[in-house]
Amino acid sequence: METERSYALLVFGCQMNIHDAERIAGILEEAGWRETEPGQAEAVILLTCCVRQSAEERLYGRLASLRPLKEERGTLIAVGGCLAQKEGTRLLEKAPHVDLVFGTHQFPRIAELLDEASRSRLCELGMDGLHLSGLPFRRREGFRAWVTITHGCDNFCAYCVVPFVRGREVSRPIEEVLEEVGRLVEEGVREVNLLGQNVNSYRLREEGRSRFAELLRLMGCEFPGVWVRFTTSHPRDFDRRIMEAIAETENVCEHVHLPLQAGSDRILKAMNRGYGVEDYLCKVEELRRMVRGVVVSTDLMVGFPGETEEDFKRTLELVERCAFDAAFTFIYNPRPGTASARLKDDVPREVKLERLQRLADLTRRLTAESLRRRVGGVERALVEGPSRKDDKVWRARTRGNQVVHFPRGEEDLTGREVRVRITGSGSWSMRGDIVDVY
Ligand code: SAM
Ligand code: SF4
Repeated sequence: METERSYALLVFGCQMNIHDAERIAGILEEAGWRETEPGQAEAVILLTCCVRQSAEERLYGRLASLRPLKEERGTLIAVGGCLAQKEGTRLLEKAPHVDLVFGTHQFPRIAELLDEASRSRLCELGMDGLHLSGLPFRRREGFRAWVTITHGCDNFCAYCVVPFVRGREVSRPIEEVLEEVGRLVEEGVREVNLLGQNVNSYRLREEGRSRFAELLRLMGCEFPGVWVRFTTSHPRDFDRRIMEAIAETENVCEHVHLPLQAGSDRILKAMNRGYGVEDYLCKVEELRRMVRGVVVSTDLMVGFPGETEEDFKRTLELVERCAFDAAFTFIYNPRPGTASARLKDDVPREVKLERLQRLADLTRRLTAESLRRRVGGVERALVEGPSRKDDKVWRARTRGNQVVHFPRGEEDLTGREVRVRITGSGSWSMRGDIVDVY
């Protein structure tokens, strides 16, 4: 009798990797594999990120901890994703217990690659296109889904490795996206997240103009009962048409993640971001005018080569003027192969750390203020499930992507839309009382 084959998936990095993992799980399960713990699995698959050095270091640490499994149980170890793409055969040399290295365009072939790797070690890195149409996936959350609309990136920001490890930007056809969303809605999905490194340039390369605003409006016409979110928006391509589409499409949520990176024109230019400070600020002001109550979040980086104290102060000033509702803050580190890796990494580590601290203090205060401003109001939110810290309260996410907790009753509200009166707020979340359930 043929025994069932089992796999474990360990995922590092961003939403792209988490979504790739959903595809891998779907493909393997269709091929008769089932998911289990790493200690029990025939194959352990690590999906990796290499955008920042810290993610890369964590991966190597985790990989080392899997060595006993290889030695004691003969577990097949596979490494895929961005770091695999970047390191290739070097990874096989550095980690002799790894059997398979597969790149970012290879995961649709995962079942056959695992079979081949069980016979001899293998490295597959071809980037000859990624066809997602019809590929199965297994979602981790019942009511929420991620839908890739573009993969790869053409922007070549000076610090960023993504274009090298994920390839050229390719947009999926509009019909394919709508068809996938339609299937998800039939399965009961209540929230769809449109995913791309720069969703604002959706179809730009294929058709010579962005059709992202149109896609948002189509999502409104075709799936009016489903909340629509999207990430990430590149500020350069974030235009009035997109703002209007957000404002005028009822089911598109009032949240835009618009990574600023730095607040000095000189540094933005060196980063090859394609926008300046005034340009960015005008867009945020216009967005706040057009979309009432919109939540604006951002990514910020300190310590890019050549960043002076003056440059950094400009970042602090701009962050304050934009009054970001949420922010992710990072320390610059050079990634091999990128344009900025050729520049001298001249901001000392202790200066980077000190700037990160000052920036994080500011963004923490702005987030707390943003949450406090909502106290007294009523927010629409989707319930994610019981709070991880206190199972007597529900955890829900508002239209603006902010977290609110409220007391739990008998009824299971997971995946349901509720209205919550906000009664209090903390550093990262709000508290409230339920008003009604839809
Ligand atoms: N496509 C998105 C955009 O353009 O905003 C960003 C994707 S990137 C995976 C997420 C964030 O990682 C970036 O916004 C940037 O702040 C940060 N990041 C990228 N490369 C970095 C580097 N070399 N050092 C530090 N942070 C980096
Ligand atoms: Fe990287 Fe820039 Fe592309 Fe974002 S837009 S993935 S930061 S190159």
